[in-house]
Amino acid sequence: LLLHCCFAMAETEYAKYRDPKQPLNVRIRDLMNRMTLEEKIGQMTQIERANASYDVMNKYFIGSVLSGGGSVPKKQATAEEWINVVNDIQKGALSTRLGIPMIYGIDAVHGHNNVYKATIFPHNIGLGASRDPELVKRIGAATALEVRATGIPYVFAPCVAVCRDPRWGRCYESYSEDPKIVQAMTELIPGLQGDMSPTERKGVPFVAGKKNVAACAKHFVGDGGTTEGINENNTVISRHGLLSLHMPGYYTSIIKGVSTVMVSYSSWNGVKMHANHDLVTGFLKNTLRFRGFVISDWQGIDRITSPPHANYTYSIQAGVSAGIDMVMVPYDYTEFIDGLTSLVKKNIIPMSRIDDAVGRILRVKFIMGLFENPLADQTLVHELGSQEHRDLAREAVRKSLVLLKNGESADKPLLPLPKKTKKILVAGSHANNLGYQCGGWTIEWQGLNGNNLTSGTTILSAITSTVDPQTEVVYMENPDAESVKSENFSYAIVVVGEHPYAETMGDSMNLTIAEPGPSTISNVCGNVKCVVVVISGRPVVIQPYLESIDALVAAWLPGSEGQGVADVLFGDYGFSGKLPRTWFKTVDQLPMNVGDAHYDPLFPFGFGLTTEPNKAT
Ligand code: BGC
Repeated sequence: LLLHCCFAMAETEYAKYRDPKQPLNVRIRDLMNRMTLEEKIGQMTQIERANASYDVMNKYFIGSVLSGGGSVPKKQATAEEWINVVNDIQKGALSTRLGIPMIYGIDAVHGHNNVYKATIFPHNIGLGASRDPELVKRIGAATALEVRATGIPYVFAPCVAVCRDPRWGRCYESYSEDPKIVQAMTELIPGLQGDMSPTERKGVPFVAGKKNVAACAKHFVGDGGTTEGINENNTVISRHGLLSLHMPGYYTSIIKGVSTVMVSYSSWNGVKMHANHDLVTGFLKNTLRFRGFVISDWQGIDRITSPPHANYTYSIQAGVSAGIDMVMVPYDYTEFIDGLTSLVKKNIIPMSRIDDAVGRILRVKFIMGLFENPLADQTLVHELGSQEHRDLAREAVRKSLVLLKNGESADKPLLPLPKKTKKILVAGSHANNLGYQCGGWTIEWQGLNGNNLTSGTTILSAITSTVDPQTEVVYMENPDAESVKSENFSYAIVVVGEHPYAETMGDSMNLTIAEPGPSTISNVCGNVKCVVVVISGRPVVIQPYLESIDALVAAWLPGSEGQGVADVLFGDYGFSGKLPRTWFKTVDQLPMNVGDAHYDPLFPFGFGLTTEPNKAT
């Protein structure tokens, strides 16, 4: 009976927070005045999709749900199926007393990469090579459309890490070793979110369109500076160094109105970032005046202690007191909720800290229009993997390629290749493998080792469809020297590189090309004129083979549109990319970044040869 009375009241009563004409702060205040502690702490909790039933959403007032690292409803789910999953969870949130919508987040870090048939854009390192922020903005807008097509309004991107050591397994998520390039590439944010900041400055309450998603600058701060590039480790650097190298990406992200910032697993001078009040609250929130919400990384507060969960109450206290507003996947969300509730009741965490967190979370939800449009519809499903987005990804691939060597000398270039010739060889483990092309964070957290779970064009099929119909293309994955010699190839294209990886699994101390890549290079390149295309998330060991290679292209992790590689190899477009990071000679030189005292690279930061498009073809 009591329930009945209150539902009825909620329906008839005018509530300011529900009125989009009210100023943002009025809506936030009105709603917060109505909320209990339990409802507030629920808002601060983000749980995994697999745990997010209607009942759990309702019972715990959960504020956010995510699909982390490839945790998807089912591998080949359609856009419609995604929408249903998200909407079912949302209905649980809406069924609560105040009907506060949850915000669903996902790692769309190079397109909507967890989703079957989405357009997969080059990873950030390739976009850094393009030096084209306007292109990156368009990629942001296209990604937002594809993410919204599946009913999701929030992405954990961009990664604004400044990778200072390619041994780090997340180097490819970093646009560059140079903070200025990282800053320029934060154009992804207005692409994803729409241009928020100017609208807000005029004092107009901004409600994002249904075509935008909230963005997340990550991982705050210094994630790319850890010793030896070891993931989640310690970044040893002076305060001045931290602010000038690793912070600039955040200055720019905040100016561009980024909705959220994710805290890094790493430490700065021995202090875990998840417990760093001075930087999270003092610098990010107070000095930089960041007004969105701060989210932890996945079980990030758990790892404040070592081993993780050693003292969970302490972890909750340290993390929330540092300034974390939303906790991503506490290892046990009921324990988190209980723990935080008792810390507040005991006055160890002041209510003002909870109100700061909840106010920020609600602000983003209002701005994203979630109160007006909590449920996704099917109007955008056609955007997923659309031809327009694939064309954009193909353009991005073209612009991301860096030409490192082209023939013996400038007057004897090998590239661009002629489309019409007798017979060419395509070789290498990476020539016909979409999974390798896409790298980590593609369908699976660690990427695909097969090539069957997403759609796109491999480099081999792109070459075949680009050459003249009379040119014979022979594909041998790993030919021996004799079979190369015995055929009369005009030239060869060898595509080799790294296998997919993500995060710690990608940390590498040797940075070699995956087997049998080195022998493919030597079997082919000694016997016929060859172009080597390297598919990798970072510079790899290439110096030992360089002399035998006639032309060398760094293609990074180009994503689903291999056609972009063929477009440039065969001269429909010129090479224009520039190295976004230093290419080392030997790993014992690392770390080595532009500006270092003993800078002796194989190819320096910013290097990249150019070619003119082939008018004849
Ligand atoms: C990564 C984040 C990511 C999160 C959610 C973490 O392991 O460090 O970058 O956003 O998982 O998948």
